[in-house]
Amino acid sequence: MPTRQIGWNVSEVAFAAMYLLVAVQALVLAYGFTRRYVTWRRGRPYGPIDQVGERLRQALAVAFVHRRLIRPGYVYAGLMHLFIFWGFVVLFIGTLIVLLEADIARPYFGFSFYQGAFYVVYKLVINLFGLLFLIGLLMAVYRRYLQKLPKFRRSLSDDAIVLGILLFLGLTGFLLEALRLSATRDEAAPIHWVAYPLSLALNGVDPSILAGAHAVTWWSHMLANTALLVYIPVSKLAHIVTGPTNVFLRATDARAALPLIANIEEQEHFGVAKLDDFNWKQLVNFDACMRCGRCLDFCPTFNTGKPLKPRQLIVEVGAYMNRRAGLFAGPAGPRINEAGVRGSELTSPDEPSLAQVPLAAELIGDVVSEDELWDCTTCRACMEQCPVRIEHVPLIVEMRRNLVLEQSRFPQELVLLFNNLERNGNPYSFPASSRADWAGAAGVQELSGVADPSELEVIYWVGCMSSFDARNQRVATALAKILTAAGVKFAILGKEESCSGDPARRAGNEYLYQILAQTNIERLNQYQPKRVVASCPHCFNTLKNEYPQLGGTFEVVHHSQLIQELIDSGRLRVAPVAVRDGRMAYHDPCYLGRYNQVYDAPREVMNRVEGGFVELPRCRDRGFCCGAGGARAFMEEKRGTRISHNRLNEAIGTEASGVAVACPFCVTMFEDGVRALNVEERFAVRDIAEIVADGL
Ligand code: SF4
Ligand code: SF4
Repeated sequence: MPTRQIGWNVSEVAFAAMYLLVAVQALVLAYGFTRRYVTWRRGRPYGPIDQVGERLRQALAVAFVHRRLIRPGYVYAGLMHLFIFWGFVVLFIGTLIVLLEADIARPYFGFSFYQGAFYVVYKLVINLFGLLFLIGLLMAVYRRYLQKLPKFRRSLSDDAIVLGILLFLGLTGFLLEALRLSATRDEAAPIHWVAYPLSLALNGVDPSILAGAHAVTWWSHMLANTALLVYIPVSKLAHIVTGPTNVFLRATDARAALPLIANIEEQEHFGVAKLDDFNWKQLVNFDACMRCGRCLDFCPTFNTGKPLKPRQLIVEVGAYMNRRAGLFAGPAGPRINEAGVRGSELTSPDEPSLAQVPLAAELIGDVVSEDELWDCTTCRACMEQCPVRIEHVPLIVEMRRNLVLEQSRFPQELVLLFNNLERNGNPYSFPASSRADWAGAAGVQELSGVADPSELEVIYWVGCMSSFDARNQRVATALAKILTAAGVKFAILGKEESCSGDPARRAGNEYLYQILAQTNIERLNQYQPKRVVASCPHCFNTLKNEYPQLGGTFEVVHHSQLIQELIDSGRLRVAPVAVRDGRMAYHDPCYLGRYNQVYDAPREVMNRVEGGFVELPRCRDRGFCCGAGGARAFMEEKRGTRISHNRLNEAIGTEASGVAVACPFCVTMFEDGVRALNVEERFAVRDIAEIVADGL
């Protein structure tokens, strides 16, 4: 009956030493993670944790099925991680099975299961997962060191240490087996189907030499295993525990909304100036990063040479947090210098490193620069791609809040934005009374002039950009034409509408946001709208997802959704527009797509009206921002290259004749872009409402 002698060539002393090492490993692991937990709990209170079952399900799905790891565009990386993870887990379980047989089943119960059919299956499976483990590691070596991806241009020593130890463990595991098979002339050798060919190669070697080599390999394997387990809590491998923990703790309430500062009038402290100002759930984010770099792939700041790189921000604040807690920060400390990616001068070689930052350093300024904080467009590309659901945007906005509300430190351009919002209820210097000036010519009525507002089907929330900007007034006019053609009874708030508050909130001015939001909520409540349609995704997101935090709950749709609905129901008949010079590309606005998962409605409208569209390489949840979000539309783009040009060049590089959008900010960014790139004659920028209105 096939089996093997457990502990062949391993002395009693060696076994005792092994158990001692296992005890050390367990203690260090427990100590390391307990210290991390204590560090997190220094943050402000958070909770209660709701939906525990669902959170657990998602955390386990990420940990064991790699649900967010294996997705379009990341099949190689996902499989690589899956092979390494499951290879390690199965090999670990395999070791436990052997110990169960040797130390419990046989001595205490006089029973043996490690033989016969079980043994055969065990060996076949262990060899399979050992091989997958090695394949996964070799894939990782290729990806990190040979593929030369910009995001891995400079790898941390941590990566090399982790990969080195794991490779050593995988190889010595098979070598141990081959040495034993060859030295003992094991008749069941062929079932060890990966180690067997190696054992054949060793068959001519003297058995005493094989036994000596086996002893040396056994000890080195054991010590490497100890090094690995001791290293886990202080290295990127901590994500094995902290990653699923972060997924478990992710925000489930108002997914697309920023956290509300409740009772803001009574607060004396705003946002985050130091680590302890984060709540403890937010602090977990900084420990969860697995350094995969997916947050960089579609990040507009990283890809246009700006200081903000979301992975770097998370890793560095994490290292800073652990240093301050007296924990060994691991090699994560020094800055990840990604200089030179995609031809841009990203960072200077003498960029300050955390190694030089004294422990008393400030979080904002020394660890995270103000430029990094202000460069973020809040596009959410990082959050969407992050496998362990790190929530970069709320973390960044918390620090902006402190800069704005407590320290009055913000870019000069925002002074004008805040002043205009306070005085005029719009980001510009137009008086509030001129908000509906465009409407008369478009035949649109204001709610104040409607005899019975309850008869209205929808209120059209125009937004500041389409109310005041001449180019975007054409979009508002086009949408009004569509609603009229479909027989939709509608009106606008007009002079009673104020800015939704989105730019103030994203810029960190929560106080101003809440004033604007409360005013709008009161107005809307006064009219009791059946539905609100917004042509600006920023307004759409704020009204739909953020006003409920302040008691304003309305049914809000984006104009792309309403247009699709009107076409589907037959209320809107649109003659297909003659496609003259080729189809247009469709660009996903971040606040429509990633924030609200409205990907299909605008595409469906394009299909119906234009007979199709060009899908851009970076599309849907992997779309690339136009550069306007996060109040960036109101700030100068001083660092790196222009985000809108990066996106436009992508669209121009296709066969598209122009770019269709569904957001007034995208219209403005791209209109400016086509002029700057000198392609306005041949490359059009149009909102889908304009395209539909052309077909009426
Ligand atoms: S929200 Fe967008 S701009 Fe900001 S860090 Fe994430 S990907 Fe980059
Ligand atoms: S923040 Fe998330 S996406 Fe970015 S490197 Fe870390 S784990 Fe990967």
